[in-house]
Amino acid sequence: MAKLILNRLSKSFETGGRPAVDDVSLTVREGGFLALLGPSGCGKTTVLRMIAGFEQPTDGSILLGERVLADADDMVPPEHRNMAMVFQSYALWPHMSVAENVGYPLKVRGVSGDKRQRKVKEALAAVRLEDYAGRRPADLSGGQRQRVALARCLVTEPDVVLLDEPLANLDRHLRQEMEETFREFHARSGATMIYVTHDQAEAMALATDVAVMSEGRLLQVGTPEEIYARPQGRLVGGLVGQGAILSLPLPAGDMRVLDWPAVQALLASRETSRPAADILVRPQDVELTPEGVAAAVLSVLFEGERYVLRLALPDGQALRAFSRRPVKVGDTVSVVIHSAWRL
Ligand code: ADP
Ligand code: MG
Repeated sequence: MAKLILNRLSKSFETGGRPAVDDVSLTVREGGFLALLGPSGCGKTTVLRMIAGFEQPTDGSILLGERVLADADDMVPPEHRNMAMVFQSYALWPHMSVAENVGYPLKVRGVSGDKRQRKVKEALAAVRLEDYAGRRPADLSGGQRQRVALARCLVTEPDVVLLDEPLANLDRHLRQEMEETFREFHARSGATMIYVTHDQAEAMALATDVAVMSEGRLLQVGTPEEIYARPQGRLVGGLVGQGAILSLPLPAGDMRVLDWPAVQALLASRETSRPAADILVRPQDVELTPEGVAAAVLSVLFEGERYVLRLALPDGQALRAFSRRPVKVGDTVSVVIHSAWRL
């Protein structure tokens, strides 16, 4: 095993237009768990397919350690990469039992007898399906089928496991359960994992690192905490968390983190000659308290633990805040922004 390196990777399809993947450089450490996050159509699947060997890069290269897997001239075929890809549709054989499905990749590789049985058993244990070996896929729930698909990819002991929105078909409750299964699977297998999703909450909950993509480009890579606390630019700031982005006349090169006096001064500023900067405000940093600025309540969403308010500042810019108390649409509240982040 070794780290997986994407080096200035690009892919253009013959249909023309902008490249599907545009100059992406990224290193996934050995045993790491990276989420590739971005809106639909931003190139996530194309990156995954290039890593798996189903697409050839137009430019750049893919390396596993020192070994070049692909560049614009050469390609190691998928079956020689020791990788496994799990799709949204589980693609299980309906006429085979769970154990036969899981053992199938070994059978193809000529692994037989006790060894195959032992490996199948281990793989089923890793996804907590020891007791389901004899069942048919039709007799399993969606989550269980997904776990069979995971076990089947685990038996071959891949260096890299590639997952393309594997939970997109499942309901919310099952997704949470499966998120745990993926984390456990990662911890037990020690495989390097790349997990594609358009769901920021899923990416943050699962992965040790998150890479954010938009329109074929890589915008930012970091731990979930870094991406959340220090997003670079409007796109990442808007994609991650429930923050609102204000446009305020902050001089270029000034501070990144703003406290309330700084935000208050900007809100009061009549400076219009300066170009505005994008300032991200997280709802948990907005407090409803009498000493603040007036804000009109635009909408109220009850989430059970709290109310999520959408507010309008005097200049019309929108803000999100949490409240423990019920608030009515049309009320005027007073808010203090304790902390804000320049994007
Ligand atoms: P995502 O997985 O993030 O939704 P994709 O990687 O599937 O995005 O697609 C990225 C872009 O590349 C899209 O504009 C898509 O239409 C285009 N694309 C993907 N595969 C092909 C293909 N085989 N031929 C032509 N265009 C493609
Ligand atoms: Mg996709």
